Amino acid sequence: VPNTEFLSDLRAAVGEQAVLSGDRLRDRAYDESVGEVRAAVLVRPRSTAEVSHVLRLCHARGQAVVPHGGLTGLVYGASATENELILSLEAMNRIESVDVAGRTLRVEAGVTLQRTQEEAERHDLLFPLDLGGRGTATIGGNISTNAGGVRVVRYGMMRNLVLGLEAVLADGTVLTSLNRVLKNNTGYDLKQLFIGSEGTLGIVTRADLRLVSRPRSFNTAFVACRDFPTVIRLLGHVDSHLAGQLGAFEVLWPEFYEITTTPPATQSPPLPYGHAVYVLMESLGAEPEADASRLEQTLA
Ligand SMILES: Cc1cc2nc3c(=O)[nH]c(=O)nc-3n(C[C@H](O)[C@H](O)[C@H](O)COP(=O)(O)OP(=O)(O)OC[C@H]3O[C@@H](n4cnc5c(N)ncnc54)[C@H](O)[C@@H]3O)c2cc1C
Repeated sequence: VPNTEFLSDLRAAVGEQAVLSGDRLRDRAYDESVGEVRAAVLVRPRSTAEVSHVLRLCHARGQAVVPHGGLTGLVYGASATENELILSLEAMNRIESVDVAGRTLRVEAGVTLQRTQEEAERHDLLFPLDLGGRGTATIGGNISTNAGGVRVVRYGMMRNLVLGLEAVLADGTVLTSLNRVLKNNTGYDLKQLFIGSEGTLGIVTRADLRLVSRPRSFNTAFVACRDFPTVIRLLGHVDSHLAGQLGAFEVLWPEFYEITTTPPATQSPPLPYGHAVYVLMESLGAEPEADASRLEQTLA
């Protein structure tokens, strides 16, 4: 448990306002996905150098650390006990640069997924990762959980969208594999170790992300299937007939469909109940009207 000396070392490292303990920590709103914040202390560094400094101090006294992104993880990966220190990336929330020609974006780990998407859009580009927690989930959290989301079928998981990253190891060593080059086959690909490792190997502090062309048409279809084998056939059929334009393919079990379309939901269900499986799909293309009719013909 942090003693007064350790707390004052932390305050000297990151500033008084960036260290929360006691009532200031208890007053912090807690999140259902992690439960009440019970950690001994929460630190919010503003730079990689500060993250490194904090981890050096923790390493020296064997202090366990739990990284926090947006706390949308849903599987209690960010839960901390009374003896642990939370290192929140919330103050590292700068979008550092966008390379429009090279189609890359450099961000700090605490930037939310939604801000990243909006920044790409401002430059008429797309950051393809998308999931329901976008407004709160952070890029650091997306990397650490190797997030998937709804467009995996077209663009792959977070692993496919990270060109490079910077991470700080438990002893404070800063490891950088920041890289804006898409076609890069030099040496070991260390960043892959950090993607999906949920903070067990280090704290992700910055990342270079891959952007793609922004589609001009977004067409959505909602389909009811009689059984699961039909879903598999539907996926193969739609994917081949749309020639690579299929952007999302999400399966909804009937229980979920019914819960989300009965009150307090205000909209009536678009398709009747009673089917074994429902599928929500999206085609992403270049010509709004032609693409909509192609999707309709494919499903007919
Ligand atoms: C409505 C909704 C829909 C969702 N849909 C999907 C989906 O379709 N696909 C999907 O994959 N997930 C989905 N999720 C889960 C969640 O949004 C993702 O796992 C997201 O990537 C977590 O990001 P976060 O910033 O909230 O991370 P947190 O929840 O804060 O942390 C997640 C884990 O990563 C660690 N961590 C966080 N930041 C760092 C860092 N900088 N360095 C090292 N470790 C770190 C934490 O310690 C924890 O173990 C959804 C969540 C919600 C609420």
